[in-house]
Amino acid sequence: MLRETSEKIQFIDLKAQYALVGSRIDESIRRVLQHGQYILGPEVVELEAKLAQYVGARHCITVASGTDGLVMALMALKVGPGDEVVVPGFSFFATAEAVCLVGAKPVFVDIDPNTYNLDSSKLEKAITKNTKAILPVGLYGQCAEMDEINRIAKNYNLIVVEDAAQSFGGTYKGRKSCALSAIGVTSFFPAKPLGCYGDGGAVFTDSDDWAKSLREIRVHGQSQRYYHTRLGITGRLDTLQAAVLLVKLDVFDEEMRLRQKVARKYDEALGGVVSTPKVLDHNVSAFAQYTIEVEQRDKFQKELDAVGVPTAVHYPTPMYRQPALREYARTNDGADLHLEVSENASARVVSLPFHPYLSDRQIEFITKSVRKVLS
Ligand SMILES: *Cc1c(COP(=O)(O)O)cnc(C)c1O
Repeated sequence: MLRETSEKIQFIDLKAQYALVGSRIDESIRRVLQHGQYILGPEVVELEAKLAQYVGARHCITVASGTDGLVMALMALKVGPGDEVVVPGFSFFATAEAVCLVGAKPVFVDIDPNTYNLDSSKLEKAITKNTKAILPVGLYGQCAEMDEINRIAKNYNLIVVEDAAQSFGGTYKGRKSCALSAIGVTSFFPAKPLGCYGDGGAVFTDSDDWAKSLREIRVHGQSQRYYHTRLGITGRLDTLQAAVLLVKLDVFDEEMRLRQKVARKYDEALGGVVSTPKVLDHNVSAFAQYTIEVEQRDKFQKELDAVGVPTAVHYPTPMYRQPALREYARTNDGADLHLEVSENASARVVSLPFHPYLSDRQIEFITKSVRKVLS
């Protein structure tokens, strides 16, 4: 039996991580409090160099959140009113929201039922003369089929922006997420694979021009102090969050190894009874979530909750079904948009507790409980 007080299962256990690296994080934060450069301080500069090296991109521009990163990337690319951006039908809302925030139109394409990522075989049909960019997502931590997406983009002269908010640390054909297309954007929201203690994110690119634009956009479009060559936002990652991330980045590879181990144990225990995540052979998932599919999801969640196993649904609604995006939920001939695979996924997916520090006993308790509920 699990001892409730000491081993209560958390959906994502940030305290377990803090127990391991807390003293180093405290020290790193204290250094910032002592030097007092809260905005774009030396930790931000150091972190950007380390992140760029980690993913294998020429430039890293840290930002205030993943959503800001997406908006800023689209601003740097001059995507705006009259332009279309192709997005998957099924993702966190921010993917399509960013497109709308710059005044462009999101065009939704269905997902692949195995990976939950943009189905590249359906991509070409969505491209029109107004299409400017493609915004694939690495949902749950597994990258989309980036080679195929880049190939199609090149044929139509489009730019590919990778929404890597969930896939930081994941690899595609041996290359790191965030460095798989013209621009990659990730998030450091606490629950993401690499999380800070607040909001944060980063944009990656090999282009010197776009990097310069992004650095200007991050500070209200200033190319020099109080000289604003374009419109921008307050888009900076703050130094305190950079100080936290520097410590967490040090243990990130080890955490990625642990994530693979936890996922393998889940796979082994659940493979026979339920549809477990399908990670393609050429991918390594960052396992932002470990997501399965069940019938009668409400009942499933309620019964697991009753025995102390928290679950979550990512996401209960395809993006185009959100009230805020109603005007974009139409096909080109005006019919109601219905993407079969996205609809099915949103009705059935459920994520299990997942973090690098789940103990064998916890995994056993969770998987036993899942099997019992499903039997
Ligand atoms: C979390 C997330 C974002 C937004 O990141 P924030 O840092 O929360 O703004 C964007 N896209 C996807 C797929 C996400 O999961």
